[in-house]
Amino acid sequence: MERIDIENLAARIEGPVLLPGQEGFDEERTGFNLAVRHSPEVIVGAVCAEDVATAVAFAAAHGLPVTVQNTGHGFSVAGKGGLLVTTRRMDTVRVAPETHSAHVAAGARFEQVIPEAARHGLAPLNGSAPHVGVVSYTLGGGLALLGRSHGWAADRVLAMDVVTADGRLRHVTPDAEPELYWALLGGRDNFGIVTGMEFSLVPVARLYGGGLFFDAGQVPGILEAYGRWTATVPDEMNSSVALIPFPDDPQVPEPMRGRHVWHVRIAFTGSAEDGERLVEPLRQVGPRLLENLRDMPYEQSADIHDDPPVPMPWAADDAFLTDPDGDTVRTILKHAGPGAALPAIVELRHLGGALARRPAHPNAVGQRGARFMLAVLIPLTGDSEVDAHAFLGCMFKDLEPWTSGRFLNFMGHGGTADQERTRTAYTADDHRRLTALKATYDPRNIFRHNYNIPPHSTR
Ligand SMILES: Cc1cc2nc3c(=O)[nH]c(=O)nc-3n(C[C@H](O)[C@H](O)[C@H](O)COP(=O)(O)OP(=O)(O)OC[C@H]3O[C@@H](n4cnc5c(N)ncnc54)[C@H](O)[C@@H]3O)c2cc1C
Repeated sequence: MERIDIENLAARIEGPVLLPGQEGFDEERTGFNLAVRHSPEVIVGAVCAEDVATAVAFAAAHGLPVTVQNTGHGFSVAGKGGLLVTTRRMDTVRVAPETHSAHVAAGARFEQVIPEAARHGLAPLNGSAPHVGVVSYTLGGGLALLGRSHGWAADRVLAMDVVTADGRLRHVTPDAEPELYWALLGGRDNFGIVTGMEFSLVPVARLYGGGLFFDAGQVPGILEAYGRWTATVPDEMNSSVALIPFPDDPQVPEPMRGRHVWHVRIAFTGSAEDGERLVEPLRQVGPRLLENLRDMPYEQSADIHDDPPVPMPWAADDAFLTDPDGDTVRTILKHAGPGAALPAIVELRHLGGALARRPAHPNAVGQRGARFMLAVLIPLTGDSEVDAHAFLGCMFKDLEPWTSGRFLNFMGHGGTADQERTRTAYTADDHRRLTALKATYDPRNIFRHNYNIPPHSTR
């Protein structure tokens, strides 16, 4: 790439165009997960869909791979070289109460959509953390707080605008471009950069939610009890449980400080009375360190998980669990329970309900039959002798008898992403169809700095 090429590009882009070493370059490529550091040859800070289209067409003409980043919450593959498009400036949000829908631009976050929708008694199908980007979360499936009640966020997408590898901006709906619609929802950044998305909202204004906190040392049976309890609850009951090793730090609330804590999270869309009755068996398991269950406006639902908003480096991986039993629990605890070599945060989310149903308009989000999604996250402090990727590899290898593929939004790359790992996010048939569509929409695989679906022509 010549300097003149970059000057020509910058002249056609409304947002900033940054080169390594320039002021703002490092800030622009840094996202929430500090362990993912893209090192592109050039960054385009897009402010509109036309900027994205110009950037992709430029990259295609110069044979450069294209990477995209919004908030950087992704468990992403760091792109080396090529062109990085950042979308955080494209953050418009419009809620249409008359159609119970919302339209967001590529950089919008759920913390913008939630209050806007709440003004009309509506809610998006956001996940645990409101500072996550709406578009990428949804393209990856979107495992929502209310997933068992209302399904995957991807299942509610009405339309998308996407810039494909040829630099074309296309309007995609289930009718207008059914194949691309199917592939984008699940195939995420393999098929282009989505510049805008329209999706339906759910009529939820309040819920009964919060958490129950147990000392893992005093109440060791909570994971088994939680597994039994989930088999008895209705679809209105959405829940997860996390094992969190809290540091011995004055900033941590006193009852949790320095302990391994089981945090059971509840988001029940029925009445507070029914919610109280349904969680009673969990209370019977043992004494709680703390409890904050209450009737709450949906706007406060971020309190349920209380995910940290501060950027940090971490490694992670996940798997769907089909039929976990006592041995699964023992295997999880052997690796990540009290005394583990690394401070692993283990999370088990209850699936089923609407998550197991087929959407009105099919998409590539797979593994709908699993009972749970297991995610393990390890903050990287730099002072451990144990390699986090090796730790995760070993743990998930031991869990193989009960696992059935991965979920894209929590998938880790084990240090080196490979296409085999990506394949596990889909059924074999869907993966075959995705590789054929990749050959149609991105035959040169310019979107390859990701969990990659290789182009494979069946013709
Ligand atoms: C604290 C925390 C809580 C989370 N909770 C949930 C949860 O409850 N449920 C759930 O499903 N997921 C959850 N996630 C995962 C999260 O949804 C995904 O990591 C999501 O991809 C993040 O999107 P982002 O735009 O914020 O991050 P980014 O890192 O900017 O994007 C992630 C990936 O998406 C791709 N991408 C970004 N923008 C676009 C675009 N416009 N077009 C195409 N591809 C794009 C990029 O290639 C990038 O690698 C959580 C993550 C964190 C860190």
